[in-house]
Amino acid sequence: MQYDIIIIGTGAGGGTLLHTLKNSGKKILVLERGDFLPKEKANWDTIEVFQKDRYHNAEEFIDDQGKEFKPGMGYWVGGNTKVYGAALFRLREKDFESVQHAGGISPEWPLKYNDLESYYTKAEKLYNVHGKRGIDPTEPFMSEEYPFEPVNHEPVIQELHDNLKNRGFNPFYLPLGVKLNEKDRMNSECIRCDTCDGFPCLVHAKSDADINCVRPSLQNSNVTLITGAKVTRLITNATGNSIESIEVMLENQQHYFKGDIIVAACGAINSAVLFLKSANERHPHGLANKSGQVGRNFMKHQNAAILALSRKLNNTVFQKTLAVNDFYFGDDEFTYPMGHIQLLGKSNKDMLATDAPKFAPGFILDKMAEHSIDWWMTGEDLPDTSNRIEINRDHVQIFYKENNQQGFERMMKKWKNVLEDCGVCDHILDHKLYIGKKIPLAGVAHQCGTLRFGNDSDTSVLDINCKTHELDNLYVVDGSFFVSSGAVNPSLTIIANAIRIGEHLMERLK
Ligand SMILES: Cc1cc2nc3c(=O)[nH]c(=O)nc-3n(C[C@H](O)[C@H](O)[C@H](O)COP(=O)(O)OP(=O)(O)OC[C@H]3O[C@@H](n4cnc5c(N)ncnc54)[C@H](O)[C@@H]3O)c2cc1C
Ligand code: SF4
Repeated sequence: MQYDIIIIGTGAGGGTLLHTLKNSGKKILVLERGDFLPKEKANWDTIEVFQKDRYHNAEEFIDDQGKEFKPGMGYWVGGNTKVYGAALFRLREKDFESVQHAGGISPEWPLKYNDLESYYTKAEKLYNVHGKRGIDPTEPFMSEEYPFEPVNHEPVIQELHDNLKNRGFNPFYLPLGVKLNEKDRMNSECIRCDTCDGFPCLVHAKSDADINCVRPSLQNSNVTLITGAKVTRLITNATGNSIESIEVMLENQQHYFKGDIIVAACGAINSAVLFLKSANERHPHGLANKSGQVGRNFMKHQNAAILALSRKLNNTVFQKTLAVNDFYFGDDEFTYPMGHIQLLGKSNKDMLATDAPKFAPGFILDKMAEHSIDWWMTGEDLPDTSNRIEINRDHVQIFYKENNQQGFERMMKKWKNVLEDCGVCDHILDHKLYIGKKIPLAGVAHQCGTLRFGNDSDTSVLDINCKTHELDNLYVVDGSFFVSSGAVNPSLTIIANAIRIGEHLMERLK
C-alpha cells in the first residue's frame, strides 16, 4: 500500500509531527519499534524503574574501546518522553548565534530564535507547559505567557528560593509539562507525586508524546500505527535521489512499505544508525552522506547530579520546581558560558542504593534522602566531528570525548559554595540518580546533533526544512538536526521544530 507520509518513531519529534499532520487528510503510516508502555504498578516502583531498569529496553551499545554498555534510553510509543522529567525549555536567543566558550566556539544555527518563537508557543500549548515569564534573566522574548500557571514550590523549596533571592540570584519556576490544577486538586489529573522524573506516569498526567500526540491522532481514520515495527533500511530508487521503500522487521519477518514522504524520527542515535545502515551504491558511506557528517557532531550535554545534604529535614514530595540560569552565559569572574541548574525529582533510599556502597544500610540511605535536596546540572558540549555514531559488527558504536568542561566544572564548584552559604547544605555528595555522578556515556538522554541542518550541503546533512540535501522525499524531525546543544533540556526545541516541519509538509503536499 502506498502512503502519503511515513513517520518512523513516535518520540518528541515523531509523535509531535504526527499530531501536526493528523487532520491533513493525508494517509499517514507510523512505524514504531517499541510497544505502548504498560500501565502497571511498576510505573511508580523505584526498584523496578531505577534498580532493574525496567523501561530502559534499548540494546547494548559499545564505546570507542568496543566495551558494551547499556544506554539509559527506551523504545516505546512516545519514545524517551515516557520517562522524561518534562522540563520544557526554550533555547536562549544567543544559543542560535556563534558563542565563544572557554572550550571553543558553539556554532551559529541557520535559523534564529525568532524563526522558532511562534512554534515554541504552539509547543508549550500542546504539552501543557506551566511556568512564569519575566523572572529568569536569560529568558528569550516570548509572545505569550505560559499556557498554565507555574507549579508552586513546597515550603522547603520556597525557603531555598527566598535564600537564593536574598543572595542576589534569580531562581525561577521550572517550566513543566504536567496536567496539574493546583487550584482544584480534586479534579487535577496530576497528583504531584514523588515518582515523576525518570518514571512513566501511572495516571497519564505527564505531557508526553504518547498521551498528548499519538493517542489523540489515532482517532483519525487516515492514521495507521504499527508497533513492534523496527525500520532496518531505507531503500532508494536507482538514481539515489529519493526513498522508494522502507524495510521493516515485524514479528521477525521483513516487510516493505512505500510512501511519498518519509520522515525519520528515531532519536539522534538511531536516525544516524538508520542512515548508515542504508548505504548503497549511490550512497556508499550512508544515505545523504556526501558531506561525511552523518552520525558526527554527536552531543549529549555534560550532566551531573548532586545531592546537597543538610541537617534539616526535606519533606518535599514534588521537588522539580525550581531552576537557576545565573551562570548560563558566565558571570563577573568567568565571562564564558557555564551552564544551567535545576532541581531533580526527590530521591529516596532505593534510588540512592543504585549508587551507594553495598554495605550502606537502608536506614542511612533513608536519612540521606530525607535530609537532601537533589540537583541536576547541565553544561553545553560542543559539536566535534570525532564524536560520532558508527556501526561496528551490528553494534551501535559511540565515540565521545568530553569537551568544554571548564565552565561546567566552575559552575559545579560555585553552586556547591552557594548552597553551603545558603545554609541548605552541610555536605554535598555526587549523586548518580540516573546513571552516574558526572553522568557517563550511557547517559544519552539529551542526545542530539548527528544529522545537523544547515544551508551548506558540504557541511550539513539536512537543509533548513530538515529535508536531506540529497534526497527529495527524506526528512528528519528528532534531535539530530541540532547545530549546537545549548545548556537547557532539548525536548521543547525538538517539539517546536517538529511542528514547524509539519506545517512545511502540509504546504508541500497541498
Ligand atoms: C530519564 C530521562 C529524563 C529526561 N528528562 C528530560 C526533561 O526533563 N526535559 C527534556 O527536554 N528532555 C528530557 N529528556 C530527553 C528527552 O526524552 C529527549 O530529548 C526526547 O525524547 C528526544 O526526542 P526524539 O524524538 O529525538 O527521540 P525519542 O523520544 O527517543 O524517540 C525516538 C523514537 O523512535 C523509535 N525508534 C528508534 N529507532 C527506530 C527504528 N529503527 N524503527 C522504528 N522506530 C524506531 C523509538 O522507539 C522512539 O519511540 C529526558 C530523557 C530521559 C531518558
Ligand atoms: S507528578 Fe504528576 S505527572 Fe508526574 S508522575 Fe506524578 S502524577 Fe504523573
